[in-house]
Amino acid sequence: MPETLPAPDDAPLTTRAAEVLRRLALDEDLKWSVPEDPLLGPPAHKVARRYVAGETLADAVERARRTLDAGHRVNVEYLGESCRDARRAAAETEVFLEAARLLPPGCSISLDLSHIGLAVDEDLALAHASRLARATADTGREMVISAEGSERTDAVLAVHRALCAEFDHVGVTVQARLHRTAEDLSALLALPGRIRLVKGAFAEPPSLAYAREDPALARAYLACAARLADAGHRCSFATHDRDLLHRVDRHLGGRGDEGSPWEFETLLGLGPDRLAAMAAKGHPTREYLVFGTEWWLYVCNRLAEDPARVLQALVDAAS
Ligand SMILES: Cc1cc2nc3c(=O)[nH]c(=O)nc-3n(C[C@H](O)[C@H](O)[C@H](O)COP(=O)(O)OP(=O)(O)OC[C@H]3O[C@@H](n4cnc5c(N)ncnc54)[C@H](O)[C@@H]3O)c2cc1C
Repeated sequence: MPETLPAPDDAPLTTRAAEVLRRLALDEDLKWSVPEDPLLGPPAHKVARRYVAGETLADAVERARRTLDAGHRVNVEYLGESCRDARRAAAETEVFLEAARLLPPGCSISLDLSHIGLAVDEDLALAHASRLARATADTGREMVISAEGSERTDAVLAVHRALCAEFDHVGVTVQARLHRTAEDLSALLALPGRIRLVKGAFAEPPSLAYAREDPALARAYLACAARLADAGHRCSFATHDRDLLHRVDRHLGGRGDEGSPWEFETLLGLGPDRLAAMAAKGHPTREYLVFGTEWWLYVCNRLAEDPARVLQALVDAAS
């Protein structure tokens, strides 16, 4: 993980609270102890329910069917990252392979490469990712690699590039907040596979990334989105930011159809209204569902992104 830069004492309370939540998210002990704790576990599970489809693949299949019935495409991720044990990375890969077999048509699969071996060795990640690429190709699904902290970006892009030599359905995620992304996009636009554009969720130093509050981040996102749209490349505009959604939609001419190379994608529990609005304009839409027992980091990151969600979490915990 990159170093988390402490927010100064005079930073807004919401910025400092978000930083605390992100630090809690990265605490390896809390990740395992809170969900199991007799006192904290039950309310924490209630909070997670809003953002996580469930702990099992069967839960994800059931939730995916509901999203498909609502007219959206689905992406499914099995939660986990930074797996530092080769045998465990192999076992986790099997879960993804099972998902590739069992998810309904219309579901793509996303993954952190560090979940299936990148934290051990790049070749191991490539070997496991190749198996998953074969399985998703055989079942007619897309596979999209997630973006991780900037210290892993080179390795993630190298594995993606290697997969693209054999497959044309393997996409990758890029972070608008990283200064390097404009240049990375030039290379990625020459490769097949969907390019998912996100703001970026990791703590990064200002030398590498725009701060979330920096208006330059929205400008960077829009510039990347315009390049993707104008190139006609398969892509995903993955954001819940209403202003950005509005401006990307305007760039696309305010409408799309099922054959459009782009789609709008939001995370479970965060954007049903945004997806409905984009679908009403004819744009392809996708909901990103996560499942698994390693939901602690994921849920803390979602809460850190918007103070209103912390209040919602209190209500959810008490329900
Ligand atoms: C489908 C999908 C896949 C993703 N995959 C990855 C990935 O692989 N790697 C990765 O790093 N990240 C990923 N993300 C997360 C992403 O990087 C962002 O962290 C997350 O989506 C939040 O940014 P946003 O663009 O949705 O908008 P936000 O910045 O959350 O904006 C949404 C709303 O939050 C409010 N808001 C904005 N800024 C603030 C603030 N400072 N304080 C309080 N409220 C504020 C505003 O009301 C705004 O309209 C993914 C996101 C999606 C949707």
